[in-house]
Amino acid sequence: MGHDYQDRLARAAKEAAAADLDALVITPSPDLFYLAGYDAPLLERLTALIARANGSHLLIVPELERPRAAASPAEGLLDIQSWGDGEDPFDIVSRILADGKRYGATDRMWAMHLLGLQKALPSSGFVLASVVMNRLRVRKDEEEVELLARAGHAADESFAQLSQEGLAGRTEHDVSRRLSELLVENGCTSAAFAIVGSGPNGASPHHDPGQRSICAGDAVVLDFGGWVGGYCSDMTRTVSVGEPSAEVSEVHEVVRRAQEAAFRAVEPGVPAQEVDRAARKVIKDAGYGDRFFHRTGHGIGLEEHEHPYIVEGNTEPLEAGMCFSIEPGIYLDGQFGVRIEDIVTATDQGARRLNEASRDLTVVG
Ligand code: ZN
Ligand code: ZN
Ligand code: ZN
Repeated sequence: MGHDYQDRLARAAKEAAAADLDALVITPSPDLFYLAGYDAPLLERLTALIARANGSHLLIVPELERPRAAASPAEGLLDIQSWGDGEDPFDIVSRILADGKRYGATDRMWAMHLLGLQKALPSSGFVLASVVMNRLRVRKDEEEVELLARAGHAADESFAQLSQEGLAGRTEHDVSRRLSELLVENGCTSAAFAIVGSGPNGASPHHDPGQRSICAGDAVVLDFGGWVGGYCSDMTRTVSVGEPSAEVSEVHEVVRRAQEAAFRAVEPGVPAQEVDRAARKVIKDAGYGDRFFHRTGHGIGLEEHEHPYIVEGNTEPLEAGMCFSIEPGIYLDGQFGVRIEDIVTATDQGARRLNEASRDLTVVG
C-alpha cells in the first residue's frame, strides 16, 4: 500500500496557512503516521515533524532513532535532522521556528513536550493541530476505506468462528483472549480491544472482561476490533447463550431497529446529530430512552475514536468518505445489556456497512 504522503503534507501546509498557523508541530501520534508514514515510539526524547505552512518540512529525531526514521516513508520525503543525548532539542526547534507566531501542536502531544516548546518560543501561541488534521483525516480515501473494510472483515470472521465455538462454560476473560487471537488469525496485526460483558455485566458498556463464567440464558455483549495497516475495526454483537428470554428478544429487536434507522439516516449533507437522533427516537419510543446513555457513534481510522462524533450538538454535515460507528445500546442494570455496532462509510448513495455479520439475535451454545 502506498499512501501519498507528499500530497498529505502539501494539504496540511495549505490548511495550516488557511488556519493562520505558521507550522504544525507533530510529535509521535496517528497524525505523524498519517502525514509521513512514520510510526515513531512515543518517548521522552523529542521526535517532531515540523510541517510549515510555506511547504518546507522537517523531521527532528533523536540520534539513536535515526535509522528507524530512515527506514520509514519519511526518508526521501523530508529532511531528517537528528539531535544527540546531552543536546537540548528545544534549542533546535527555537532555531528553526520564529517566535511570535501561531503553531498547531498535535492533540496527543505530551505536556513535557508542549511546555518545552512554549519555553523555547515564549511569545508564540499554540492551538490544537486537530483544527487542521481533522479536515485532512476525517474523509478517508479509497485506500483507507479498503483497510477499514479489511479490518471489518477480520472482525466478521472472528465473530462467526467464536459463535461456532460457543460461549457456555467459558469465562469472559477466556472469550476476550480468544477473540483477540481470532482477530490476528483473520489478518489483523494485533487486536485493539475485546470487551465481553455477560449477563448483568453487559449493562456496563465498557465492562472489563473478568472471571464470570458464561451460562445458558445469558445475553453477552461482544465489542471488539483489530488493526490492519494502521486502521482499526470496531464491531459489537450481542448474542444469546441458548434460547433468549422474551425480554432479551424484545430489547434486542428495539436496538436492531434503532441501528437500522440510524444507518438509513446517513447521507452527505445530513448533520451528524441527525444520525444520533434517528437511533435515539426508536429507543425512546419503545420506552428505553433513559437506558441509552451514550452517543450513537464515533469516527474511526488511525484511532479507535476520532472525528466525526455522532452525537447531539454536532451539526457538522456528513460527507462522502467519512467513516464512523453506529452503535446504539440499551443497558438494564442488574439484568443485561444489548448493543449492536457497525462501522459505516458515508457515500453519495448513503451509508455502506464495513461489517457484514448478521444483526439478528444470534443464538450460540
Ligand atoms: Zn465504546
Ligand atoms: Zn465498539
Ligand atoms: Zn465503537
